[in-house]
Amino acid sequence: MVTHADHRDDRAVVFDLDETLHRLRRFTVGGYAHVARRLESRMGRPAGSVFRRLWGMYREGNGRTAYQSICTELGLPPEEATSLLRDHRAHLPRLRLTRSADEALRQMRGTWRVGILTNGMPGLQRIKVAALDLDARVDAIVYADELVAGGKPALDVFARIAADLGVPPGRCVMVGDDGVADVQGGHAAGMRTIWLRRPNRPSPPEGTADAIVQSLAEVPAIAARLIGDSR
Ligand SMILES: [Mg+2]
Repeated sequence: MVTHADHRDDRAVVFDLDETLHRLRRFTVGGYAHVARRLESRMGRPAGSVFRRLWGMYREGNGRTAYQSICTELGLPPEEATSLLRDHRAHLPRLRLTRSADEALRQMRGTWRVGILTNGMPGLQRIKVAALDLDARVDAIVYADELVAGGKPALDVFARIAADLGVPPGRCVMVGDDGVADVQGGHAAGMRTIWLRRPNRPSPPEGTADAIVQSLAEVPAIAARLIGDSR
């Protein structure tokens, strides 16, 4: 007879972090608000107007250059943009798991090994993991950029999370919003794949997604089916 304890060790689910378990938009909002408050205490510019300006640039698709632009507009030297960006990244974000992420983690933790495989600057990703209190809720976390520049979809990073979870790739289900980094990468590494469809995110190449979902609430049942285990 297979007990839950045995069972838990022979299958794994691996989640992407950004835009999968939480929405990055909240982090971005918090970063702009933090920097706007700092500029207010330094220069007396109302934080609300600076925030609205930064957020407006982000929404127009100019988030990457928002701090350069705000420095020009406020008459600050251009090199200040670097320190504003550092403040933005270092502020302790008030992040929250989506409700369906919270529920999927709760449901799967008992009967699956659970991992996180994330791209992005490892220092920044660690801040997010701490803010979301995820260390205590998963079995392994791999910061892919520490292994390979650019991280996913490099095959090595998928092999690493599978090894850290102690489960062969063929018994792992990779779940993420990026059709290339998460889905194509996971598929190439021999994992089953679930694409979490979000607006304006890269689609998976034909034949690489084993399932497509609109919400993580669908993941526990679909992942069990993909692994050939409907219990
Ligand atoms: Mg993502």
